[in-house]
Amino acid sequence: MAETQKILVTMTCPSCGGQVEYEEGEELVLCKFCESVFALTTDEGINKVMYKLTVEKDKALDKVKAWFSNGPKAQDLPTTAVITEAYPLYLPFWRLIARGKACVCGIEEQRRGKDNERVEIPHEALINREYIYSEIACEPGDLGIQSIVLPERAEAISIDDQNIVTFGVTKSRDEAYDIGGNSIKNSAILDGSAKMSKVYFSKAFFFPKAFTLIYYPFWIVRYQYQERDYFATVDGITSRVVSGRAPGNAGSQSTAAGIGGAVAGGVVGLGIGMAVVTDGSELGIGMLVIGMVAAVALLGYFYTRFRYGDEILEGALDGKGLKTGRTQTKIQTVYNETYDHFN
Ligand SMILES: [Zn+2]
Repeated sequence: MAETQKILVTMTCPSCGGQVEYEEGEELVLCKFCESVFALTTDEGINKVMYKLTVEKDKALDKVKAWFSNGPKAQDLPTTAVITEAYPLYLPFWRLIARGKACVCGIEEQRRGKDNERVEIPHEALINREYIYSEIACEPGDLGIQSIVLPERAEAISIDDQNIVTFGVTKSRDEAYDIGGNSIKNSAILDGSAKMSKVYFSKAFFFPKAFTLIYYPFWIVRYQYQERDYFATVDGITSRVVSGRAPGNAGSQSTAAGIGGAVAGGVVGLGIGMAVVTDGSELGIGMLVIGMVAAVALLGYFYTRFRYGDEILEGALDGKGLKTGRTQTKIQTVYNETYDHFN
């Protein structure tokens, strides 16, 4: 098997302060400067890594203020919002790096020739890729964060869970490992069957490389708008706003709802018009029924779209409101080009 790229973690040596690199998943690290050896595995046998908060408070607040004017948020949010609280919080995540291998046999449908004739071509795919699964290890409450991607410049520090604010780990190591392993196997099968219209055989395995409990830093910023409480979370290393709750731009939303109502009314009106013109014939009545069905569908669409119109949700937030922005997926593919074979 070809050698794969290593995922390196940089950390500051707790004895001499030198910058040490090690491969993720290692249990012991030797400092090349002072030759001290330190363990990364705790008493419970769990490999823990904590990443350093590098974004300063002012930077985090600036990012949230810029975020106030992005997207369909209340137009006066940047000028009216009052920041009430901002504090760093470390959230725990389980992170599994593993090679996922899958064999998938199935059929790809193609159209051929000038008659566009449908042909079924049997295929076999062998997938051999590296995947990273990460999932939050605590109850994140209303924070809207489910998983993380470690940025390249992330720097590990000694675990100091006495002096930082963090949430207790509630998802067990074994459960996280099983879910992570199954997700990686499923991803390998999905990658193999991407072009297949029918799969008649699939089998997948995963080969774990590192399984770590990661403590990752965020800034939690809470603010008020018109006497209601909202929040945003900022990645403590990249400074990106990863989730948040904000008041919506009620003006543009009521405009959209108004247009929806007008269109629906117009459709019904057209149906009635047809019914009158055709003097109640079957065609006219039919048009009226179709018009009313269409109007109900349109109103339903605008109702579900705008009934909670005054709240914007970003990140992996549950609840009522308009969802925008990106949610971090739990699976990442590390090396896209690795040894896949498609026959
Ligand atoms: Zn050292």
